Amino acid sequence: MVHETGYYDLLGVSPSASLDEIKKAYRKLALKYHPDKNPSEGERFKSISQAYEVLSDPQKRELYDQGGEQAIKEGGMGGGHNPMDIFNMFFGGGGRMQRERKGKNVVHQLGVTLEEMYLGATRKLGLQKNVICEKCEGYGGKKGALEKCSNCKGRGVQIKVQQIGPGMIQQIQSMCADCQGQGEKFNSKDRCKNCNGNKVERKKKILEVHIDKGMKDGQRITFHGEGDQEPGLEPGDVMIVLDQKDHPVFQRQEDNLVMKMNIKLAEALCGFQRTIRTLDNRTLIINSSPGEVIKHGDVKCVQNEGMPIYRDPYDKGQLIIHFQVEFPEKHWLPEHLMYQLERLLPPRDDVLITDDMEEVDLCEVDVESQQRNHSREAYEEDDEGPRAGVQCQTQ
Ligand SMILES: [Zn+2]
Ligand SMILES: [Zn+2]
Repeated sequence: MVHETGYYDLLGVSPSASLDEIKKAYRKLALKYHPDKNPSEGERFKSISQAYEVLSDPQKRELYDQGGEQAIKEGGMGGGHNPMDIFNMFFGGGGRMQRERKGKNVVHQLGVTLEEMYLGATRKLGLQKNVICEKCEGYGGKKGALEKCSNCKGRGVQIKVQQIGPGMIQQIQSMCADCQGQGEKFNSKDRCKNCNGNKVERKKKILEVHIDKGMKDGQRITFHGEGDQEPGLEPGDVMIVLDQKDHPVFQRQEDNLVMKMNIKLAEALCGFQRTIRTLDNRTLIINSSPGEVIKHGDVKCVQNEGMPIYRDPYDKGQLIIHFQVEFPEKHWLPEHLMYQLERLLPPRDDVLITDDMEEVDLCEVDVESQQRNHSREAYEEDDEGPRAGVQCQTQ
């Protein structure tokens, strides 16, 4: 059975990705390819939105996993929403009604380190925005000097007649380029020199973004009224979306921090002392007493050493440590000492060998091809399969 993965590929996630991973991937790509930032990538923006619309809905996703894009179309579940609506729903930037009374909202992504989210930080962000022209106060030229546009005779539209075949003509109506569809314009001497009659000018504005302790990846910080200005409209908002950068040691799971720790076999069996450098640069010492025995894959935690809780930063999550026991390499111990080692270890079970049994060779496994098979199997299982599959792969 061959499965389609096109929607997953578009978002750059694996078919077993969690909903959070899908949301994060969409968030990054939608901001990157938004027509405001990347006007030539309209098609890409549309397909990303389509993929997100399907994969973020458990029912549609299941249908897609089973029968691909075809099944989505046949099920009448495809392309329901305008890409912009999906974007606005995701980023919470007002619907159409609101947009008519307000200028456009601007969404920016801000890369933030885990340390900044732990300690809190203030970042300065410079952005370009439209502001009402200072010289003409958004009028566009000398007061009272507006004239009817001669090109469109004040109608704001131009009509072009085109011959499209023998005896067939087509009328194309378009916005008048001379007056930008306003029907009125300034003649060149009355037009505002500062904004060239556009009523607004581009200006750089510095915003101070306060990152509070415990803020999360994807969290929004809204600056009301700091978006583009347009004459006659309330200015839009600027929304800053936090994008947490990967940390070399810690991974965040909600308010917990998760890390891996490799220990030697001797440490696992005979105890150890290790240090951990925290995100605020303290050093923690952890102990395992002799005889405690930490097994490969054991998980332990330290209370109150996770991330600060947002708006309650004296309270913290847990630090969760996944232990990995490093076994010694082949032939690390001369054979004549093995006997001594064995005497110290828990006894082995006896195995009864009889003549009718078959002795076979134990070979190395080609791990890569094994993983490929494994992930395919996991993908074909409907229930818990996919998630279980990925955990195995990442080990
Ligand atoms: Zn002006
Ligand atoms: Zn005109």
